[in-house]
Amino acid sequence: MFVVGITGGIGSGKSAVTDHLETLGITVVDADKVARVVVEPGTSGLAAIVEHFGEDILLADGGLDRAALRKIVFDNPEERKVLEGITHPRIRDEIARQLSQASSPYVVLSSPLLLESGQNTFTDYVVVVDVPEEVQLRRTMARDDNSEALVKQIMAAQLDRQTRLARADTSITNDASLEQLCERVEAMHEDLLVRAATASDQ
Ligand code: ATP
Repeated sequence: MFVVGITGGIGSGKSAVTDHLETLGITVVDADKVARVVVEPGTSGLAAIVEHFGEDILLADGGLDRAALRKIVFDNPEERKVLEGITHPRIRDEIARQLSQASSPYVVLSSPLLLESGQNTFTDYVVVVDVPEEVQLRRTMARDDNSEALVKQIMAAQLDRQTRLARADTSITNDASLEQLCERVEAMHEDLLVRAATASDQ
């Protein structure tokens, strides 16, 4: 199966791109969703977290209290390592499982940290959703109702625009309307269909 990684900074438009690819019949595996699935109630992931961090990181309904956990690992690299030791292998296994079940002409792995986390080892081709920083800032603030300072802090913790672009096979620019983005997605989709077909011939 030809695996296309899609990445980009916060609010760059990854969901807008992958939503449209889904309407074109492409299966999308979303790494953010996978990260939540592996710590749902009843999973070995949540059990391992409770075993190490205690019942205090559970909400009344038995779900994971992400805010409490974030507070613990925020400035504690040792605890962060323990948490990642629990979640990362499970995330990788679940991504591999979902990718292997896909039956569309190619499959997309969408991840904000595709390049940072090593998840690009799953991919044959990497697409970056690229957007000028001022547009990214404006759209993200509007969507999340967050302060400029917070969004800038998150952007600073991610790969910078040029580094991300340099590590991509191609990019799609999301600096115009959503209609124009959809047109660009369709053109990219045609190209990806050819690449996937060529790869399966080899
Ligand atoms: P995150 O990594 O934070 O989940 P994302 O990369 O998935 O973000 P989106 O949620 O797709 O980004 O887009 C961010 C916001 O910008 C959304 O509110 C979306 O509707 C809006 N948006 C995306 N593309 C455009 C566009 N071309 N024109 C106007 N608004 C847009």
